Amino acid sequence: KGDDVTDNVKTIRTIPLVLQGDNYPQRFEIRGEILMPWDVFEKLNEEREAREEPLFANPRNAASGTLKLQNSSAVAKRKLTAYFYYLLGENLPCDGHYENLQEAGKWGIKTSELTRKCKTVEEIFDFINRWDVERKNLPVATDGIVLKVNSIRQQKNLGYTAKSPRWAIAYKFQAERALTRLNKVTFQVGRTGAVTPVANLDPVQLSGTVVKRASLHNADIIEGLDLHIGDRVYVEKGGEIIPKITGVDTDARFMLGEKVEFIKYCPECKSELVRYEGEAAHYCPNETACPPQIKGKIEHFISRKAMNIDNLGPETVDMFYRLGLVKNTADLYKLTVDDMKGLDRMGDKSAENIINGIVRSREVP
Ligand SMILES: [Zn+2]
Repeated sequence: KGDDVTDNVKTIRTIPLVLQGDNYPQRFEIRGEILMPWDVFEKLNEEREAREEPLFANPRNAASGTLKLQNSSAVAKRKLTAYFYYLLGENLPCDGHYENLQEAGKWGIKTSELTRKCKTVEEIFDFINRWDVERKNLPVATDGIVLKVNSIRQQKNLGYTAKSPRWAIAYKFQAERALTRLNKVTFQVGRTGAVTPVANLDPVQLSGTVVKRASLHNADIIEGLDLHIGDRVYVEKGGEIIPKITGVDTDARFMLGEKVEFIKYCPECKSELVRYEGEAAHYCPNETACPPQIKGKIEHFISRKAMNIDNLGPETVDMFYRLGLVKNTADLYKLTVDDMKGLDRMGDKSAENIINGIVRSREVP
């Protein structure tokens, strides 16, 4: 069952509520895509980082997450936009797909001004080559170009295969990648006990940011790459915030470094790791005494997604945990202002705020 996002879509300024002029068919369908521009996406993630909320991996996730919000005025603040790319119906103004979109533009519907009608294969390749470079300057994320037969009549004659139209094809740009040195692999234990291997790299420029770390996902990926410390590795950003390692330049190996092996014991609590049937991840099974798991669970508990406890962030949770004040979520409710007296950067006012936040969270249904 899908979500009804009609009210949210109505808040998007580039989607007209009323059409302009009187030159449009009585009935038509128009298809488009709702998206979040880069600048809005980056600002949103900065705000989320400041509030210690999880970041969106890419503008696409951020746009779909935004459309699912319950509160339409919150959606309006996110400044989504939309581009329309295909007009369908019985009585369209023209036979040309391109010409129809130009008409739709006159009705107040936003279409991409970058669409071009090409007459030869050379023109198509010129267009592709130009945008392979220029796309980095676009205000929105893009991973390719769609080529379509312009004539609607010819589109109808060509028809569809079981999966897709015969009159359209997507051209995907090669993902940007960089080559750098693998210095070491560290292992992080998450709230669920899942252990994630992280590659530590010589800093390298990639898609406008400096990359120092990359995800290695799990033991199978490490094994498949046959990674050794000191290897020259290819790093790619597949639309995610954390880049990934996609290959090793084996020709650049001068001396083979130490082979990267997945650890057998938890780096935090020394428990033996387990791997459940059919799962790629390794887990630390020590749910009740592994520090990052306990801290992660408390942080999740106080987060907006769960109990929504204000005034209490991960750093404070970490301090409470280290001092033995809070060993599990139930301990939060035993905290007193006196417990926090004299703690680092903790005035009476902040202590009271924390207690008030915890008390208020009891009222969450
Ligand atoms: Zn552990």
